[in-house]
Amino acid sequence: MGHSGLDSKKLNRKILNVYWVVIGLAFIIKLINYNFTAVPLGEYLIYYVLIPSGFGLIFVLFSELSVKRMSKHIDLIIVLAGLFIALNFIYSRPDIIILRSALFLPILVSGAYFRRNIIIFSTAATIVSYSLLTLVQPVLRTGISIIDQFTMMAMLIIAAIAVIGIMERGLELAGHYRQSIVAQQELLVKNTLMEKLTKTDSLTGMYNQISFHQFMDELLAHHAQFHFSIQMAIFDIDNFKRVNDTYGHRAGDEVLKEISDLIKNEITADDFAARYGGEEFIVLFVGKPMEKTIGLVEEIRRKIESISYRVLEGESVTVSIGLQEYEAKSGKEVFFEKADSLLYDAKRNGKNQVMTG
Ligand code: GH3
Ligand code: MG
Ligand code: MG
Repeated sequence: MGHSGLDSKKLNRKILNVYWVVIGLAFIIKLINYNFTAVPLGEYLIYYVLIPSGFGLIFVLFSELSVKRMSKHIDLIIVLAGLFIALNFIYSRPDIIILRSALFLPILVSGAYFRRNIIIFSTAATIVSYSLLTLVQPVLRTGISIIDQFTMMAMLIIAAIAVIGIMERGLELAGHYRQSIVAQQELLVKNTLMEKLTKTDSLTGMYNQISFHQFMDELLAHHAQFHFSIQMAIFDIDNFKRVNDTYGHRAGDEVLKEISDLIKNEITADDFAARYGGEEFIVLFVGKPMEKTIGLVEEIRRKIESISYRVLEGESVTVSIGLQEYEAKSGKEVFFEKADSLLYDAKRNGKNQVMTG
């Protein structure tokens, strides 16, 4: 379990607050108890109230000081302070037998640290110190049978076992919680990767046909409201079958990758490029006048033509392009058909050119 500085600081503060409440309450109860005793007032105040409460105060103040100084074994100091407060109660009023249940205080407090060693330590320290106290203070042995004494020890041990049980349950829950967070993160990463896999093409990293249609549908829906300009350019590599036949499929793949990278680099952030078929790419140009898009597409065509490929023994490849402006009145299907037929015209007209509608 991680013990971040912030958490243990908060915990120490809470426990010290409990100590203040305990000695404050004890002080008040002692004052009230004067009504039920025959001890003269002066003696009662000094020996039953001020001296024991003074010791309690010293223990809590010492803990406060240790917390301020951020002592290394602050948890042990705080647990021991709880033990001293309890012993102090018991020593000052050995006649009140039920007061010995104060010995539960250090054991319960040690449970808050969620560390088995501290719980075991505080339980052992409680039993040993109480036993020593009964040796040096014979009054603690009168009025209570040996069986009662042992039963009390047994109760302390049972309390410690219960506290350890609660701690382990807590640790188990924390472990489950941590695991479920890790699982959630893994799922998120997996989903993101899966989404990328289903939306993009593995060779070129471009969007695939499915995501192209999703994007286009949304784009056209927006267009119905905002009427920005949209152009579609279909790129088809010229004589690519021959490239594959001559230099092999892998060389062809490299050319595809090179051309797709070039297209991605040339278009703007508003535009959307997809690998539509084997050696066909589609770009949707968004929010630009047709003249600007023609310039862009022409530039792409020229750059593609100028690349010479090592895998093609220095040869270049060219592309033919059909470029069509979107018209809302004709709709998506016609938009496609027109761009496609312009591409066909470009091929028929001798390839390596842009045809616009
Ligand atoms: P043109 O378009 O100029 O009319 O001729 P073409 O030879 O390019 O035409 P066609 O569409 O008939 O051929 C496309 C070829 O592209 C067929 C196939 O060998 C090749 N091709 C398609 N997908 C891939 C791919 O992923 N990798 C490689 N290396 N080749 C591909
Ligand atoms: Mg083709
Ligand atoms: Mg082709």
